[in-house]
Amino acid sequence: MNRFGGCVWICFAVLTATMANAAAPETSLVPLTRPAGPAAAEIATIPRIRPNLRPASPQVTAVAVRPAEAPLLGPQNSIRPFLRPQELEQQILFKKRKLRKSSVCGNIAIQGKAVGRVKGKIKACGIKDAVQVTSVSGVRLSRPSTMDCGTAKALNSWVDKTVIPTFKRRGPVVELQVAAHYACRTRNNRKGARISEHGKGRAIDISGFRMADGEMVTVLDGWRKNPSQKQLIKVWRGACGPFGTVLGPNSDRYHRDHFHLDTARYRSGTYCR
Ligand SMILES: [Zn+2]
Repeated sequence: MNRFGGCVWICFAVLTATMANAAAPETSLVPLTRPAGPAAAEIATIPRIRPNLRPASPQVTAVAVRPAEAPLLGPQNSIRPFLRPQELEQQILFKKRKLRKSSVCGNIAIQGKAVGRVKGKIKACGIKDAVQVTSVSGVRLSRPSTMDCGTAKALNSWVDKTVIPTFKRRGPVVELQVAAHYACRTRNNRKGARISEHGKGRAIDISGFRMADGEMVTVLDGWRKNPSQKQLIKVWRGACGPFGTVLGPNSDRYHRDHFHLDTARYRSGTYCR
């Protein structure tokens, strides 16, 4: 072999070796380290993020569908413990017990605190067994309101049966705007007039209803305009019954911006204007 022939053979050998190296990653028999594929991630997360959809005997089913080499990931191994029905039940019981503790007038739906006797600055005022109500049927009052239990129960019944259903689509309603509650004063603050039911803890004034998204439906703006008009008339009418006296914007100029609700009864029945 001459010098030229020797170079051809050496060059061919070098070229072949270089090409073989370039193709190595695709053709190598050694598997590459790949990032975890979606299938692996799915297997690992299904039992943890959808615990409530598990069949009655999770382990048996899980083993059947899981590849043999996959680690056994079940509720027992989950790092985020889920709520089992029993724990959930205990939590509800605990919440109920807490609510019962902070309820007044023997009704779990009426939240607040008992304040006992409230003395008025004059003899005609005051409440014998007063309560300070913070919420009724889950709807909070814009401020703690003092009244007697008869009035607290009437308020709760009205909110439960009329206010919540009326604003169900628009709301839900989350707060009652309280314009007045207990106050030792005369009717409509007029000199020489009789003591108001507010002075006896039997009245509450509501000027608006706040929805969950923050929207406020006020008696002043909504009484003569839709869409609030229809709903306000409905809640005003619904108060007649639980309360003995209901006064709204149609009654007089003193009530153009609120509903006056009180539990004083008239011999001829309820008085609603
Ligand atoms: Zn009033």
